[in-house]
Amino acid sequence: MFGEPCPHCKKKLSINQRKGLLNHIAIYCRYCAKPIKIKDTHQLLNSVAIGVICGGSLGILTDLKIEYLAMVSALISVFFQRYLDIFYSLEIASESDLL
Ligand SMILES: [Zn+2]
Repeated sequence: MFGEPCPHCKKKLSINQRKGLLNHIAIYCRYCAKPIKIKDTHQLLNSVAIGVICGGSLGILTDLKIEYLAMVSALISVFFQRYLDIFYSLEIASESDLL
């Protein structure tokens, strides 16, 4: 999870080197200068996981109605997802992802 390898050159990229992915869909690998991004399937799984965890824990800890639970967990996952995404696996990005 930490230090995911670049899909091109297989060199490990630290969290610091992947921080650019917070603001960009894709970044260039520091070592081989080829475009990389986070796997789409992992991003999807990540947002579902965050939503379920947040909704579940709020449901247990509070008396909020299900409509509010869904709304609050959706907001939380939108806000936090990009910070968690950088821990996920990388894949080869296309040039259009870099625009
Ligand atoms: Zn590379």
